[in-house]
Amino acid sequence: MKILVINSGSSSIKFQLLDMADEAVLASGLVERIGEPQGLIKCTLRPGTDKELVVKKTESIADHTGGMRLAVEILLDKDQGVIADKSDVGAIGHRVVHGGEDFHQPTVITAEVLTAIEKNIPLAPLHNPANMDGIRVARELFVGVVQVAVFDTAFHQTIPPHAYHYALPYELYEQERIRRYGFHGTSHKFVAGECARVMGRPLAELNLITIHLGNGCSMTAVENGKSVDTSLGFTPLEGLVMGTRSGDVDPAIHAFLARNCNMDIEAIDRLLNKDSGLKGLCGLNDMRDIHAAIAAGNERAKLALQVQTYRNKKYIGAFMAVLGRVDGIVFTAGIGENDGVVRAMSLQGLEPFGITLDHEANGRRSTQPALLSTAESRVQVWVIPTNEELAIARETKAVLSR
Ligand code: ADP
Repeated sequence: MKILVINSGSSSIKFQLLDMADEAVLASGLVERIGEPQGLIKCTLRPGTDKELVVKKTESIADHTGGMRLAVEILLDKDQGVIADKSDVGAIGHRVVHGGEDFHQPTVITAEVLTAIEKNIPLAPLHNPANMDGIRVARELFVGVVQVAVFDTAFHQTIPPHAYHYALPYELYEQERIRRYGFHGTSHKFVAGECARVMGRPLAELNLITIHLGNGCSMTAVENGKSVDTSLGFTPLEGLVMGTRSGDVDPAIHAFLARNCNMDIEAIDRLLNKDSGLKGLCGLNDMRDIHAAIAAGNERAKLALQVQTYRNKKYIGAFMAVLGRVDGIVFTAGIGENDGVVRAMSLQGLEPFGITLDHEANGRRSTQPALLSTAESRVQVWVIPTNEELAIARETKAVLSR
């Protein structure tokens, strides 16, 4: 069966078509700058094969419908395309950012499901409407094809109340649904499953700490295969130090900025989400640039690296306490997969906790899952590439066979 995965943002649509017989990627593409004068679509057909073909078009793309139509045209092209007919697509999996407390697992999209996604818009005002646009367009273009919503928050719905409640007036939970939800759930679940596979053990018996370090960063405590705590909270701002997001700060900083720095709530929100994190500390938010700056003697870049990796270590310690026994620590996403320095600094000094990195293995580049700890290390340390599209495709397939 072929599954189309759609990740629809406010001005972009990422899509991938996979053949689930062997999980091969048939096409992978991105529609960008939707609604701007000059839109862009780039699609790679049959990537990684000797028939690989990159199709690029620049033209005005008025809306999500226009963008998706262009994508479908490329997939269906009678000379170069990868499907002969729209009915070749067996199912469509959509990334949906916020499922609130309504969705604990991927779900076939019905009118009721759409209403529930809409109900959660206040919790993800930028993301859920864009995700809904993608769903609406896909339903128009692929009439009768099963559509499945895969939620970023669903994996974390097993987090117990003592971990998801903030110590705020209880009414704020009841009336406004303010609680910790967590995000990146599809990625955490995927790498936890992959870790169990490479360890050769059932996920349901494993305690893991999964660490997703990309532009956004988060860490999850996985107990017997289930998320029991995670670092992102009510919004994707809490927890670790990210590219441009602050992660944990004293909440009273908001009031201080408002009273003393003449900032309104929009400016404070922007400061914490767009101008903080690594970028706030040193002006750079790409870890590769930070390493280059450190090599050139930039002290602030060094500080940014230290602040991020110290925060990582602090959360690892916290999640070890949450779990008691930890079988594995998994690094994933752009920084986690590629940056041995960040991994080593995040685990530095944790040998008394049974974590011993094999520095040679940690220094090697790998696009495959790789063990980074020594044979003696009580806790195994792994690097496992995440693959959100494949994860969504697998979840979609699993829903169909439920
Ligand atoms: P997103 O969170 O947007 O999905 P990614 O997981 O792709 O992002 O991570 C992007 C980040 O990964 C970049 O900002 C960069 O800091 C980091 N990164 C990518 N490649 C490398 C590398 N070779 N070494 C260190 N960091 C890298």
